[in-house]
Amino acid sequence: MKRRKFLRTGILGLASPVILAKSKNMKNNKNNPVVLSTWNFGLAANEQAIKILRKGGNAMDAAEMAARHAESDPDNNSVGLGGLPDEKGKVTLDACVMDSKGNAGSVAFLQNIKHPVSVARKVMDDTKHVMLVGEGARQFAVSSGFEETNLLTKKSENEWKKWLKNKREMTPHETHDTISVLVQDKNGDLSGACTTSGWAYKMHGRVGDSPIIGSALFVDNEIGSAAATGLGEEVIKTVGSFLVVEMMRQGYPPEQACKEALNRVIKLHNGKPDFQIGYIAMRKDGEVGAACLKWSFEYALYKKNKNKLYKTKGMM
Ligand code: ASP
Repeated sequence: MKRRKFLRTGILGLASPVILAKSKNMKNNKNNPVVLSTWNFGLAANEQAIKILRKGGNAMDAAEMAARHAESDPDNNSVGLGGLPDEKGKVTLDACVMDSKGNAGSVAFLQNIKHPVSVARKVMDDTKHVMLVGEGARQFAVSSGFEETNLLTKKSENEWKKWLKNKREMTPHETHDTISVLVQDKNGDLSGACTTSGWAYKMHGRVGDSPIIGSALFVDNEIGSAAATGLGEEVIKTVGSFLVVEMMRQGYPPEQACKEALNRVIKLHNGKPDFQIGYIAMRKDGEVGAACLKWSFEYALYKKNKNKLYKTKGMM
């Protein structure tokens, strides 16, 4: 890999050396599957992906299985079953998938279906569309054989009822979390998935970044993939995951690419954003990186037969 070095001046005026790797010469990482996912529940989700990869399965199947694991967990209050509802007490789900061929599928504002990520996969595989929303997405799911279930657990319902008493506006980082999963399989092919119940007690009808291709997830099999968690509105406005991948195309290493995308957000908020965004990124050569705006952010990485949780500190 040819490298060139130059000095970059960050928005805080600090110069830091960045090694730009020429993306054209990027080596494909084969026979060494990698799984990268958001938050501590990513560890258990990664295990599901690993099972598929060990059998020689492909990155798309592995990413979907990992996301399904988080969706099934009633104790995870930000994804699928047990997700905290919107202001009206409805659990509304957003999810998307993207594969190594650039195919994509997504669902938004979907209710009563336990595995939105698999509905998104069906949209990708079985329709000529990319995105289905709300009632149409539900009808499509049911006609494709998905069962309808009440996703509001007693625990989440009680939380919502407590919230109803004073309707305190939740600061975004208090209740957010989403699982985004990036996978590279033994052939070196990349795919990803993202699924969430979104911002707790959001307005009825609110859709976040998680079903938006390019915002919460983007995969370019020649370069790499990226995914997001955190305040969806801000990710959408900066087309975050697409930007991270484009930064890697320009030669920024994965972690630096995530930071460059976050720098755009910092700048838009006059250097003082008061919310969280976390990005994870995977490059075609198997290198990974992550970064977050504030506080800290955990991500789960499976690489070279080890599945471990890592913590990255906020940029500010
Ligand atoms: N990005 C998700 C959303 O805005 C939530 C999160 O990741 O915390 O819906």
